[in-house]
Amino acid sequence: MKDINLMLDTDLVKFLKRKKLLNSKNEVLIKCKYCDTSVTVDQIQFMIPGDNNIIQVVCSNPICINEFLNVGRTKC
Ligand SMILES: [Zn+2]
Repeated sequence: MKDINLMLDTDLVKFLKRKKLLNSKNEVLIKCKYCDTSVTVDQIQFMIPGDNNIIQVVCSNPICINEFLNVGRTKC
């Protein structure tokens, strides 16, 4: 797992812009991997870099965070 989720918010914004995942209103164009809800930069808890430059995000919903952490654990 890369340390992208540890980036500062400003770096996160820059990163998302570079990936064209942020529109001019600073709205994130990708949805939470688990609940499929639109997220803002503030709500992103984790970013999951995948294959083919696909980035997935996990929102601040505790259910989604739990799910993400549990998935990570079972994979290890
Ligand atoms: Zn979610």
